[in-house]
Amino acid sequence: MIDEKMTQLEELLRDVRDSYGNRLVQVSSFGAEDMVISHAAWINSIQIPIISMDTGRLHEETHNFIQRIGSIYGLKVRIVFPDSQELEKLLFNKGANSFYASVENREECCLIRKVHPLNMSLAGYEAWISGIRADQTVNRKNSSLIEKNFDSSGRTKINPLLSWTRSDVWEYIEKNKVIYNELYDRGFASIGCSPCTRPVKEGESERDGRWWWENGQKECGINVRK
Ligand code: SF4
Repeated sequence: MIDEKMTQLEELLRDVRDSYGNRLVQVSSFGAEDMVISHAAWINSIQIPIISMDTGRLHEETHNFIQRIGSIYGLKVRIVFPDSQELEKLLFNKGANSFYASVENREECCLIRKVHPLNMSLAGYEAWISGIRADQTVNRKNSSLIEKNFDSSGRTKINPLLSWTRSDVWEYIEKNKVIYNELYDRGFASIGCSPCTRPVKEGESERDGRWWWENGQKECGINVRK
């Protein structure tokens, strides 16, 4: 089963690279799913640049991992940061950890630290690749493999792992010896910003480790259609 999915993944990456050329980019947080996509592209010499958002609140382990990726794959990753004025204003008005106070505050922080930097960095691109899986959230379940006109600029979003399960991802990682963030070995099932991500307990879903004080969508906004 995983062999079939691997082949489909490689074919899709080739197809979209041929269709969009240098107007295609992968958006990665270097989670397990993102690494599957980057690895599949890399071993098949499918050149797709990578953009990643450094929110300023990432785990130290994630920074170490990004450094490691560069030395192993030789990948040059474009790291994008929040707008300093927007961030200063947020911190001045609400403090550094306002996201714990309400969903609105949390979404505001994600907007400033993730969504706005992503939108800025996608200028010049017509399509981008995301590592979401349909079984992660309700929003993702309603996504499709290729999402045309995903944002207000009419970009296409491609979700190559939409039909993959968590076990597919880890089967691929083990089979292909893909490197991964060491936080997974410490009980993290999904890795985001340090103050908003925790390891999951037995019986919890992988998204339970994200914004655990909230009920609801558990989305930062970048994978939500505008
Ligand atoms: S995950 Fe947390 S720290 Fe990171 S941008 Fe969202 S609210 Fe802010």
